[in-house]
Amino acid sequence: MSKVMIHPASYENCQKAVDRAFDLFPLEVEGKKVLVKPNVLRLAQPGEAILTHPAVLKAVVTKLMSMNTGQIIVGDNPGVFTYGANEAAFEKSGLMEAAQGHYQNIGAESREVPFNPEFKERLSVSRAVLDADVVISLPKFKTHGLTVVTGAIKNSFGILPGAQKAQLHKLAGNPARFNEMLVDVFRLRVPDLFIVDAVVGMEGNGPASPDLRDIGLVLASDNAVALDATMARLMGVADPGQLRFLAKAREAGLGEFSQEAIELIGELIPIADFKLPPMGGEAIARAPKIQEFIESRTLLRPQADPDKCTSCGACVDQCPAEALAFDEELPRVDPEKCIVCFCCQEMCPEKAMQLL
Ligand code: SF4
Ligand code: SF4
Repeated sequence: MSKVMIHPASYENCQKAVDRAFDLFPLEVEGKKVLVKPNVLRLAQPGEAILTHPAVLKAVVTKLMSMNTGQIIVGDNPGVFTYGANEAAFEKSGLMEAAQGHYQNIGAESREVPFNPEFKERLSVSRAVLDADVVISLPKFKTHGLTVVTGAIKNSFGILPGAQKAQLHKLAGNPARFNEMLVDVFRLRVPDLFIVDAVVGMEGNGPASPDLRDIGLVLASDNAVALDATMARLMGVADPGQLRFLAKAREAGLGEFSQEAIELIGELIPIADFKLPPMGGEAIARAPKIQEFIESRTLLRPQADPDKCTSCGACVDQCPAEALAFDEELPRVDPEKCIVCFCCQEMCPEKAMQLL
């Protein structure tokens, strides 16, 4: 039976709830490499409740620092709107300070792994995720137009650097397949512990809706299916099995969503009149503007300006997808390999690399 903690918390006192999560779900971290992954969807202020709040991240890092953790890495890969803007997103949200010196741009190095060929033969995953001994995922309590709930399983979409997220949106083609694809990404590296920032949550048309709710909770579990099902029940979804990603995750043996299979530590009181997005997200997935935007984000490719490029080779050496090679004196991209992570643009000392 899986356990889910539901603990009252504010941003001023969330250390207590985080410490309790570590007591209930003990982790061996002494001398180990631990990756902490908040939800850093895009550039946003803490008050917008789009990202995991810095107070929750700070409490988790503080706890790990007190446990003789070998190495702590805090990082995420922002989504379709701002991929590549890792540092800027952490700075703007206060997450950089909350990381207490442990931030790393996890988009800068990745490794290819086999994926579900129905979508794509191979994906590049942040090396820091694959190399970690322990992964701690910090989802935000939010709605999402395509999945209804964006919690533990959806937060793992951020292990993919660059435009792969946009490419997979496009390759999935419809909400049902998108939900299935998310579970396949989640399975590439199932995190060991999930701690959800549900102090202030988001309702309505998430994942970047202006409708916020004071919920006053921190949730935790070591099982994503049980945790996401509990989030769904808090949001008023009586049967979480209706959510396609949860049905698929259960089929894949990742956990159970029935209430009988979940031991609650704390009180589950559904949030009154919680506004859900339309179940299934068909309307959003079909919206031509959204489709065009996603398409445009998958087509960007780097191009070196011949007037500025000094052929220093920094971009070729450091491209995480090995997508750049010199053609005469200029770096050229292999569009099949490029994951549009923006690293070459960020690292070019001459500002010669553009994404067009
Ligand atoms: S070519 Fe540039 S944008 Fe493409 S994967 Fe390499 S570093 Fe990233
Ligand atoms: S890092 Fe910039 S200057 Fe150096 S080879 Fe690449 S594009 Fe040219």
